[in-house]
Amino acid sequence: MDTQRFTRQLMAGFGPGEQERLGGATVLVAGVGGVGGAATTYLAAAGVGRLVLVHPGPLEKPDLNRQTLMRPDRIGESRVVTAAETLGLHYPDVVVETWDRDLFDPVLPGLVAAADVVIDARHNFPERFQINRMCLDAEVPLVVAAMNATEIQLLTVAGDGPCLRCVFAEGDPDWDPLGFPVFGAVAGTVGCLAAMEVIKLVSGFGEPAVGRLLVADLWDLDVRTLSVARDPACVDCGFRRPSAGATRLDGASRR
Ligand SMILES: [Zn+2]
Repeated sequence: MDTQRFTRQLMAGFGPGEQERLGGATVLVAGVGGVGGAATTYLAAAGVGRLVLVHPGPLEKPDLNRQTLMRPDRIGESRVVTAAETLGLHYPDVVVETWDRDLFDPVLPGLVAAADVVIDARHNFPERFQINRMCLDAEVPLVVAAMNATEIQLLTVAGDGPCLRCVFAEGDPDWDPLGFPVFGAVAGTVGCLAAMEVIKLVSGFGEPAVGRLLVADLWDLDVRTLSVARDPACVDCGFRRPSAGATRLDGASRR
């Protein structure tokens, strides 16, 4: 590892040991659009060793207002491949694996299980619930980063904290799943917040926002952190994760 590259991020509570943990970590990023692209950029910059990028489909011109890993000469080509090329130029030490697939692809559960942390940067609830379930099944921490227009939401799912479905049982009908409006700076803001949550989860530095939902509207810069609790009747985690101190059931408790 090129340790000189990271000297400026060494601080109280984050030393060479924490840096080494980042270097040994695998982070799966589901969605490398505006949110996931920003998260991926700052994870690579921080020295995360391996990034697994999952995003289906080719780059389109309207993506360019927010997807800063992309380039206009790559319109029509795979987003994940272009993202990996850009990352390779800026951060040559990071290993980038690309999967031009959606989150329902059968390869996904294995990729999730092999990751240390997953970022959900998808914008539709069917895919977001899918990755939530896969992370619960594999007991892999999940950072949920979402935005719509000028609003952002961030939730870290780990340990005994609430999952995405505990907090949004039915999704959010007010958020347009397709063609949603987006400023790149809003997507980038929540992507950077997600990257910092991953850095904390992997290194042990700081306090991940488990059980706290960050909601912000950049319209008027209204930023709040709401306490959120597990729903014992949650269809995704209610029966998968026994309460603290209880013993997990084998087999029957898993899908
Ligand atoms: Zn839940």
